[in-house]
Amino acid sequence: MSDVIIIGAGFGGLAAAIELAASGRSVTVFEAGPRVGGKADEVVIDGVACDTGPTLLTLPEIANRVFQSAGTTLAAEVQLVRPEPAFRYHFPDGAVIDVHHALEDTLESIRAGLGERAAAQFAKHLERARRIWEATADAFVLGPAPTPGRVLGLGPRAWWSLSRIDAHRTLWDVICEDVEDERLRWLLARYATYNGSDVRTAPGTLACIAWVELGLGAWGIHGGMHTLAQALARTAKQLGVQIHLNHPVEGIEIRHGSVTGVQVAGKTHATGAVVCNADVAHLAEALLPTKARQAVRTDAPKSTSGWVGILKAKKRDDRVAHEVVFPPNYLNEFAELFDRRRTPVEPAVYTCALGRAHGRPSWGDTEPVFTMINAPALPAEDPGDWARAARQRLVAAGRIDRDDTLAWSRNPRELEQQYPHTGGAIYGAASSSAMSAFRRPANRVSGIEGLFLAGGSAHPGGGVPLCLQSGRQAAQELLASTAVTRAAK
Ligand SMILES: Cc1cc2nc3c(=O)[nH]c(=O)nc-3n(C[C@H](O)[C@H](O)[C@H](O)COP(=O)(O)OP(=O)(O)OC[C@H]3O[C@@H](n4cnc5c(N)ncnc54)[C@H](O)[C@@H]3O)c2cc1C
Repeated sequence: MSDVIIIGAGFGGLAAAIELAASGRSVTVFEAGPRVGGKADEVVIDGVACDTGPTLLTLPEIANRVFQSAGTTLAAEVQLVRPEPAFRYHFPDGAVIDVHHALEDTLESIRAGLGERAAAQFAKHLERARRIWEATADAFVLGPAPTPGRVLGLGPRAWWSLSRIDAHRTLWDVICEDVEDERLRWLLARYATYNGSDVRTAPGTLACIAWVELGLGAWGIHGGMHTLAQALARTAKQLGVQIHLNHPVEGIEIRHGSVTGVQVAGKTHATGAVVCNADVAHLAEALLPTKARQAVRTDAPKSTSGWVGILKAKKRDDRVAHEVVFPPNYLNEFAELFDRRRTPVEPAVYTCALGRAHGRPSWGDTEPVFTMINAPALPAEDPGDWARAARQRLVAAGRIDRDDTLAWSRNPRELEQQYPHTGGAIYGAASSSAMSAFRRPANRVSGIEGLFLAGGSAHPGGGVPLCLQSGRQAAQELLASTAVTRAAK
């Protein structure tokens, strides 16, 4: 019998496993899929492993803390990569802006492309974004799930800071107040999509995402983002964690309001504590007994999904690690995604050159280029030929050759099949209102003793660092509870 059973070996599950095993608990992970990493997956195409999920690591100190709890460090386990420039944004009028690792270099690129006034306004917006991050990080991201009571308990100094986080204005309004240039507005609006939200309704607080990437930095990982999941799994195993791949959990057993075990292949595995890294919708709809389902909140609107393709693209000298090609009217993309709930006819297209960003190898004169367009979570209209719009935009912008081939692709429906009950949503719930942070399920399920949540659909939300933090928080709450003591009896 394990002290703790973890359902899923995504980032949240692996982080929880490490923290719990490092605290001396016996931990077993059951993973439905054939590999660890969850959405940070990879596919091997003609001998080259290509990432199919996240392409950018922010807040690496969170990953570092997970490794540190096991007596190692992020730097010892993976090699971070910092390509220069990191991002290139292409606008429909031909303007180009580069994002560099040093903020001053990014501002210089804006100055050169759009003028002094635009650069000054951008800097002003980032100053606001920094202030918001510093005011909210501890209260909303790096600790337990916020509640109105907990926020009140922070005291007058924190209240004053929190009164200035633009929670009651939309992100779009905040961006428009700070920045006049439409191209810069679009660049900043894209950060709402980093957690699958609508810039027109998301709270201005999400401006902090721009600071996290532009101010604090973003990295690749040599060998690909999936390598980070492999490093976490290796570390967990060294601590004695048992990881069983291809072992979907079929149900969680609950007696008298407490977790007593999980069902795998028709067999019960007894435990006093379960950390669920699967989406909360999957937990409620497929894993919990009917009577227990209302303990988990699943009413938050889902974040966006996306179509992903891997192109075998002719190598070119002017390719940058990450590129975004904007359509003629980017704001229309949000109306398409969130009002009309369909895939934009003219989408912004994101590419990641996996060689430059993550040191992935190439195939001679062609290289793997991860390509993505945003789409609504299901149910939504299926445009059929998903690749067409992406390819057209990239060819028109001169970013790929007309005869570059699509080697692999996955649409939102296929993503939902791989991760059931997610609707293909990439980041769990969207943050489309000021109350989103309070509606996200906490890491401990109240009403079911011994049940904990870790992952993008729980606090503090989606994206690699936040899912890792979710796993850490779930582990800390589990260790502070009586669940492990009960299991040991
Ligand atoms: C295309 C794409 C691009 C992205 N880009 C970025 C990016 O650049 N930067 C960033 O920070 N984030 C990005 N993200 C988001 C990020 O990848 C996710 O937020 C994060 O990886 C999710 O981690 P998680 O802990 O929620 O677990 P998940 O990845 O959701 O994994 C959950 C695991 O649970 C398993 N599971 C489910 N049900 C069961 C069951 N019944 N029994 C056993 N196992 C089960 C699943 O198989 C899965 O392995 C991207 C995601 C995608 C898909």
